Amino acid sequence: MTAQIIDGKALAQTIRAEVAGRTAALKARGIQPHLSIIMVGDDPASAVYTKHKVNDSTETGLSAKLERYPADMPEADLLTRIEALNADASVHGILVQLPLPKHMDSQKVIETISPAKDVDGFHVASAGALMVGRPGFWPCTPHGCMKMLESIGYDLRGKHAVVIGRSNIVGKPMAMMLLAKDATVTVCHSRTRDLKAFTLDADVIVAAVGKRNVLTADMVKPGAVVIDVGMNQNDEGKLCGDVDFAGVKEVAGWITPVPGGVGPMTRAMLLVNTLEAAERAGNPAH
Ligand code: NAP
Repeated sequence: MTAQIIDGKALAQTIRAEVAGRTAALKARGIQPHLSIIMVGDDPASAVYTKHKVNDSTETGLSAKLERYPADMPEADLLTRIEALNADASVHGILVQLPLPKHMDSQKVIETISPAKDVDGFHVASAGALMVGRPGFWPCTPHGCMKMLESIGYDLRGKHAVVIGRSNIVGKPMAMMLLAKDATVTVCHSRTRDLKAFTLDADVIVAAVGKRNVLTADMVKPGAVVIDVGMNQNDEGKLCGDVDFAGVKEVAGWITPVPGGVGPMTRAMLLVNTLEAAERAGNPAH
């Protein structure tokens, strides 16, 4: 079997076009969706990511502003700035780029963002809303993975989904989203004994570890759907995922590539969350 590719880049493009259309409709009502991005310090990867976020936003008609602060910014000043953005009705989404400098308590900073503007979906209120099935912002990466499953018309009811990784931003919310769609979910992590025993039984595998070749062909049931969240470098210094793509694609039914899979979807879902924040603000009854 050779797996069908789930083209995250193409799907993200479709989603961005939808966002552009809904944004135009909001603008016609006098609402300009706006994302405020805060970056503290000068981490090179964060600089690239925040630049993408601004460009992605402006390309779809959202407005976005990046505020950069020095690495020695006092935490109290950052909290004050976030509170000002919370109070600013023209700002619909607030995103604090992680990681923050070591002297800052990231969770405390995230908790300062109003849940109504928490477009990264990292606030405990957002995590809690996802947990109990209430409206709230879903973290962009697992949300993008769900959209990919939806795009192939995959019915998760009663299927065994194995999530490898249990981080607060990917693994745990991914498990909650799959559970909400009636999958039977197993969450594996670094202390899992015999990972292969779980993955071999899985109809859907989401690998979110950050290590190359965590999932190889001998660990995958024929026809399974494999979603690769990982971002690693191969020996040539090129971006690769957690999955041995060449091997696994000969066994799986569907597979996401890296690059061109989950990455573009994560970027697209931030736009969706920002747009929805603006739509909700413009329509408080909903
Ligand atoms: P993380 O916080 O480091 O979590 C990694 C998880 O993998 C942990 O739960 C860890 O277990 C588990 N793990 C480590 N080694 C393992 C092993 N050998 N077998 C099974 N599980 C193992 O990372 P993250 O933030 O969730 O991100 C995961 C990966 O996704 C990274 O490569 C990251 O760059 C990538 N990512 C990509 C996107 C995108 O847009 N494409 C977005 C976010 C993240 P313990 O909990 O026991 O330590």
